[in-house]
Amino acid sequence: RAKQNGRNRYCFFTAEIEALTVRRMQVVSALRHALEQHQLTIHYQPQFSARDGRIIGAEALLRWHHPLLGQVSPEEFIPAAEDSGLIVTIGEWVLRRAVRQMKAWLDEGMAPFVLAVNLSTVQFRHPNLPAMVATILAEEQLPPQYLELELTESGAMHDPPAAIAVMDQLHEHGVRMAIDDFGIAYSSLSYLKKFKVYKLKIDQSFVRDISADPEDRAIVTAIIAMARGLGLRTIAEGVETQAQLEFLREHGCDEIQGYYYSKPLTAEQFGRFVHEVEPCAA
Ligand code: C2E
Ligand code: MG
Ligand code: MG
Ligand code: MG
Repeated sequence: RAKQNGRNRYCFFTAEIEALTVRRMQVVSALRHALEQHQLTIHYQPQFSARDGRIIGAEALLRWHHPLLGQVSPEEFIPAAEDSGLIVTIGEWVLRRAVRQMKAWLDEGMAPFVLAVNLSTVQFRHPNLPAMVATILAEEQLPPQYLELELTESGAMHDPPAAIAVMDQLHEHGVRMAIDDFGIAYSSLSYLKKFKVYKLKIDQSFVRDISADPEDRAIVTAIIAMARGLGLRTIAEGVETQAQLEFLREHGCDEIQGYYYSKPLTAEQFGRFVHEVEPCAA
């Protein structure tokens, strides 16, 4: 009986893994055609100054709609793109599109802000990355100070000496770096001062319960204090409530991103949103 139970559990487990594997294979093979079939779009989520509520940035977030699979979350297709190597082509497409959009907004006279683009660890490790970034900026004629690249903490800490070298090169090209999802990986804090980083993005998991959980409050307060000591800016992501916003503001967090202010928007919606928030930018 016990043996049978064990066997059933085993069968259930392999069936589940099999289903996940099939799904992953479907996603990867569909993703291969996503670019040429124009299924990928970019949404833009505004980032706000905690001090005065002005828009000072936007994060580009990739969206994928497939005719049969429907809307697939980046939490699912980005890892699939990384495993299959597709992320290199897709990531380059995102960067070019986002940079081109930013250039268009500036040309239209939109009040300047900084556009943040996520970099996969796989892209970050690609030897051609700094040159690719510089080429896109030059071809699209966007001055580098309008671009920020986000790399996750675990990505940066995977091989810190290599990360230092890449960040140095990006810095030479005039592009800023932010460390995404900060606080959930194990950072060697001594490396933080060697990274050419401009900003820490406090992971949403600490922000979520900030109003109730004293430990999360302690962690967030400590990250902000440490960042300030190192001369880095901080941004909190996943801010959904007034209470979260107030805590972050009181404790000196510089920037706010989250549904409280705005969800990620299409480029068109973003343009309209900026006009509503800052009607006489020009
Ligand atoms: P991320 O870079 O940490 O992006 C923040 C995520 O939090 C986004 O999820 C955003 O929509 C979501 N978010 C923003 N404000 C709130 C809020 O107030 N509440 C909640 N619950 N969520 C909020 P999204 O767009 O689903 O993206 C998930 C992840 O996928 C991103 O996390 C990033 O790691 C990855 N990703 C998205 N686009 C790209 C891309 O172009 N390239 C790469 N390499 N990764 C990307
Ligand atoms: Mg990000
Ligand atoms: Mg994040
Ligand atoms: Mg994340």
